[in-house]
Amino acid sequence: MSVCTKCTNTFPAGSRITEFDGKQYHPECFACVDCRKGITSQFYPFNNDYLCAACHEQRFPRKRCAKCNSVVTSAGITFAGASYHAACFLCVTCKQPISAHSKISMVDGQPCCAKCYEDQHAKRCSLCQKAIIADVEYLEFEDKYWHKECFTCSKCQKCIAEESFYQDGNLILCKDCI
Ligand SMILES: [Zn+2]
Ligand SMILES: [Zn+2]
Ligand SMILES: [Zn+2]
Ligand SMILES: [Zn+2]
Ligand SMILES: [Zn+2]
Ligand SMILES: [Zn+2]
Repeated sequence: MSVCTKCTNTFPAGSRITEFDGKQYHPECFACVDCRKGITSQFYPFNNDYLCAACHEQRFPRKRCAKCNSVVTSAGITFAGASYHAACFLCVTCKQPISAHSKISMVDGQPCCAKCYEDQHAKRCSLCQKAIIADVEYLEFEDKYWHKECFTCSKCQKCIAEESFYQDGNLILCKDCI
């Protein structure tokens, strides 16, 4: 006479038997170890027991996309501690997907592509008017910004980023030109 693998009681005549892995269970004995509900559909082996899909998710939460909130499988992108589907990782400004390999800037905690960042958010150099993109050296002086190599003497144009300089009205002068 066969018995239930879990409770070792016999099966009443005519009762349903759940079979899994060559073993037999009362339907209510083949239950999720967490919620104790009989497992009817998807389940996951857990120690010597089983977890229903919902409880498995509770114990082992998968990464969810910060954008669409569905599960991120293999080829996701991680940025600032959050996960994204590649197709969900959009520039906050142009709303186009940003390649994980391109330079990513951050605007208000959101990813921004290099182009939009340069166009709209980057500091601008007082001399050449070009964007000061992330990771380049720059100087800040009285609310103005310069690329390091653009911080030059107003008279002789020598780079004075690493020298002492003097201010004369709008001019910035090296020590030889004052
Ligand atoms: Zn049983
Ligand atoms: Zn459960
Ligand atoms: Zn997504
Ligand atoms: Zn963009
Ligand atoms: Zn410049
Ligand atoms: Zn000078």
